Amino acid sequence: MRTTGPLALVTGANRGIGRATAEQLAALGHTVLVCARDPDDAARAAAGMPGTALPRRLDVTDPDTVRDLARAVGTEFGHLDVLVNNAAVNYDTGARATDADLDDVRRTLETNLFGAWSVTQAFLPLLRRSPHPRVVNVSSESGSLAGMGGGTPAYGVSKAALNALTRKLADELRPDGILVNAVCPGWVATDMGGPGGRPVTEGAAGIVWAATLPDSGPTGGFHRDGRPLAW
Ligand code: NAP
Repeated sequence: MRTTGPLALVTGANRGIGRATAEQLAALGHTVLVCARDPDDAARAAAGMPGTALPRRLDVTDPDTVRDLARAVGTEFGHLDVLVNNAAVNYDTGARATDADLDDVRRTLETNLFGAWSVTQAFLPLLRRSPHPRVVNVSSESGSLAGMGGGTPAYGVSKAALNALTRKLADELRPDGILVNAVCPGWVATDMGGPGGRPVTEGAAGIVWAATLPDSGPTGGFHRDGRPLAW
């Protein structure tokens, strides 16, 4: 299938910041694969978006759905221009590193770190076929070692690890022209963020910025609203 504009894939795009990111990319003229672990959720979200928004099933912790979608996108489109690793779980505000349930920590890493890692690996062959490939890892200042304190142990460690992965991938993929960046959307009013944060449209805008960087743009960076954050 020929796309109008670049082809973008957003994980966890059925609600929250992922949905707003998919919507903004679609409004900019991207063909957007609106991914969700529940296909009905994906279809409902995509139906409300402008432009070309195509619902797809993807559970980032399920290797079968990751492999199947990568295969299907390869067959249907032959490439991928933008990958947004947005899906995440478990802002564990009540927990402490000293006595955290390590099964809970492992489950969190499974989505927030290994999910993004496995999706990126699966789609790399298709990203390499893009003239302007971009990977955006949706991270959080909770993962910044520079200011890290106690609390939210599973989430904070998962995002610090995602930041490290961002640096590794960016360095290894620089020769291929694939720009890889981590983006913190700020505190955003979603199911995860709770009430009081800024609107999803504002959180998504910094992700869209990283997804639409020119070839001369940064790689291996950590940003919020297009400005560098301390690691
Ligand atoms: P959210 O409202 O809780 O949405 C999370 C999304 O991830 C949902 O679509 C969820 O799908 C999806 N998801 C979870 N596990 C998945 C899996 N295994 N496979 C595929 N999708 C999965 O969260 P949000 O606030 O929009 O957060 C989006 C991103 O921003 C996350 O990476 C988060 O860490 C980051 N962030 C958020 C804030 C904030 O203040 N909100 C601040 C900093 C960073 P289901 O509907 O199926 O559960």
